Amino acid sequence: MTRWDEILTLPVQNPTILEFSAADITWSMVEGWKDSMDRLALIPFSRVGDFVRGESNNKACPTRFHVEARRRRSPTMTCKPKVDGILEYILYWCSFGPDDYRKGGAVRPSRSSCGKRKTPAGRPNTKRGCVCHFIVKRLIAEPSLALVIYNHNKHVDKKGTPCHGPMDKMAVGTKAMFAPYISDELLLEVMSLLYVGIPVETIMQRHTEMVEKQGGPSNRDDLLTHRYVRRLERKMRRSVYELDDDDAVSMNKWVENNQDCVFFYEDFSDNDTFVLGIQTDWQLQQMIQYGNRSLLASDSKFGTNKLKYPVHSILVFDQQKNAIPVAWIITPNFTHGEIHRWMGALYDRVRTKDPTWQLGGFIIDDPLTDMRTIRLPGVDFLMACPSRLA
Ligand SMILES: [Zn+2]
Repeated sequence: MTRWDEILTLPVQNPTILEFSAADITWSMVEGWKDSMDRLALIPFSRVGDFVRGESNNKACPTRFHVEARRRRSPTMTCKPKVDGILEYILYWCSFGPDDYRKGGAVRPSRSSCGKRKTPAGRPNTKRGCVCHFIVKRLIAEPSLALVIYNHNKHVDKKGTPCHGPMDKMAVGTKAMFAPYISDELLLEVMSLLYVGIPVETIMQRHTEMVEKQGGPSNRDDLLTHRYVRRLERKMRRSVYELDDDDAVSMNKWVENNQDCVFFYEDFSDNDTFVLGIQTDWQLQQMIQYGNRSLLASDSKFGTNKLKYPVHSILVFDQQKNAIPVAWIITPNFTHGEIHRWMGALYDRVRTKDPTWQLGGFIIDDPLTDMRTIRLPGVDFLMACPSRLA
């Protein structure tokens, strides 16, 4: 069997957990270049993010993976159809590499200026020469699949010695013990606190108290710094959402730059206003976890008197009955039966990640909404709830 016949007949692996790592996958050895063997697996392309997160949250060696290189075939490019044609190539590298800013470490010439700075401007020198990386290829033959090639799966440097995490003796007692960045959960929490106006000092005081109470830092999130939170606050204060004077142009630009979290977008048209549906990866995970076979609620009161266009939040509830916003819809007139325009897209997005996901019911806080427009498989009942959801 030729290499590509072998690859295309590999089983597609789709672990039924929110995020998964290399350990949850059976790897196949397929002959590659110059008699070397490649460790390969096929996963759905829609689950690449879950795999990247799973690999980052490695218990033995917490890290992050960043996109070191990416190439996309432009849709206009014509080419001869080949079995190994690639739509997209993404190289993910452990964020502790590939450069090495440790004493005596090698840095690629193009990046050497970063290491020479006298005062590393706000960015810790996290690069420690880690060689751990994997490649994701999206094939023209099977665009719904991702071919993952993982030949360097150990967090070691060029000499083969552990270079970060608990196995690295030099990292003990330093930040390199932990993941290089704080988690998305903590980032979101800090951003929300800042957004509602909690001062940086209060956030830090609360955080320090919490870390002291647990007996010192035990993961990267515990090392949150005053400087980092202050920077977030400044960034938020200075951020400009109006990218252009014309709202339509402004929104198009925003959508272009944030494609990963836009699940639905319809531009202004002659008869209709725009609808923009936003859902981050973290929100999608919460929706899968807490929304399955339970209630989803629409809260249309957020920002109605403060923002130019109101934001409608779709909420799920955790075990403690806390509401978690799992998607946002921005449209000028939500009340005029717009739900059918985006609900299917949101449903499909969740079902791509978890085909067993079912919606138990949908609570609408706006009785004017045309409920006939919501018809989805698995929706047992709908409720109109005129009072604000707490
Ligand atoms: Zn690494």
